[in-house]
Amino acid sequence: MSDDVTTHETRQEGQHQWRSPVGAHPSPPPAPPAPLTGKTTKLGVRVHKRAIPGVTEIIAVASGKGGVGKSTVSVNLAVALAQMGAKVGLLDGDIYGPSAPMMLGLKGSLEVGDQGRILPREAHGIRVMSFGFFSDVKEPVIWRGPMIAKAFRQFCYDVDWGNCDYLIIDLPPGTGDVQLSMIENLPVHGAVVVTTPQDVALIDAHKAISMFKTLDVKVLGVVENMAFYECPRCGHCEDVFGKGGGARLSEDRELDLLVSIPIEKHIREQGDLGLPLHHEESRSAFMTLAQEVKSRLGGF
Ligand code: ADP
Repeated sequence: MSDDVTTHETRQEGQHQWRSPVGAHPSPPPAPPAPLTGKTTKLGVRVHKRAIPGVTEIIAVASGKGGVGKSTVSVNLAVALAQMGAKVGLLDGDIYGPSAPMMLGLKGSLEVGDQGRILPREAHGIRVMSFGFFSDVKEPVIWRGPMIAKAFRQFCYDVDWGNCDYLIIDLPPGTGDVQLSMIENLPVHGAVVVTTPQDVALIDAHKAISMFKTLDVKVLGVVENMAFYECPRCGHCEDVFGKGGGARLSEDRELDLLVSIPIEKHIREQGDLGLPLHHEESRSAFMTLAQEVKSRLGGF
């Protein structure tokens, strides 16, 4: 695979035709490169953060551990913010398991706009870019570090995000080189850390919080996912992954617990069918989360 995703994808698919950007997100005129602002982090590294033209607030969603529902939260948060009236982009940077295309019901390839910038796909009122548009879902990811970093930069700066109030970045699970290289040069305005109440997930969530603190990124709060399961027949609540883990983590790290999301069949089904926020029962938790995020970052 070429390491230039723009040329690779468009040549392969032969879809160079111009397509006008969708009305809800009118594109800003091509902006000159945003100024670099140098700052020395706690790691002693001088970083130059570069804004993404047209994007007001960048929100990183991280989890430390995989499988806790980080992508589910990212996708539903993005759609919930859009339903509240915001212009929203979702950058699915989860190289190891890019699930946004499936969770949003998106298939197929990308197109390039008149200024040679990649046009993100649109679904459920949000603009979407994903590593999943460049990989076969059945094949393991073979991209190496420098390629991932380069492709991620292109996803940020060579994609026509239009005017976005919020760009949500679904980071890969973990707190290693890949995650650091993705966010250290981005002006991330706030991070959301997703965990289950289980100790083994909380350990990794602690690491994710520390990573953001090291990079001087404000953590907006913790999302406790799969907090409990309520039997739809008898109403009994079972703490499948333990109880109170999200609250303990938030207290330990002096953060807010933004929301506790139950285990719900509809949440899983909606993800598989590409129909986020479809069922009323599962909507309220994500709408609450969107409200909490909005109130911490400012309105639109
Ligand atoms: P991650 O991004 O952390 O790897 P995913 O968002 O892919 O996790 O979620 C893992 C699995 O759990 C998916 O099958 C998803 O549909 C399911 N899932 C996530 N959150 C919930 C929930 N609250 N209730 C039921 N299923 C969930």
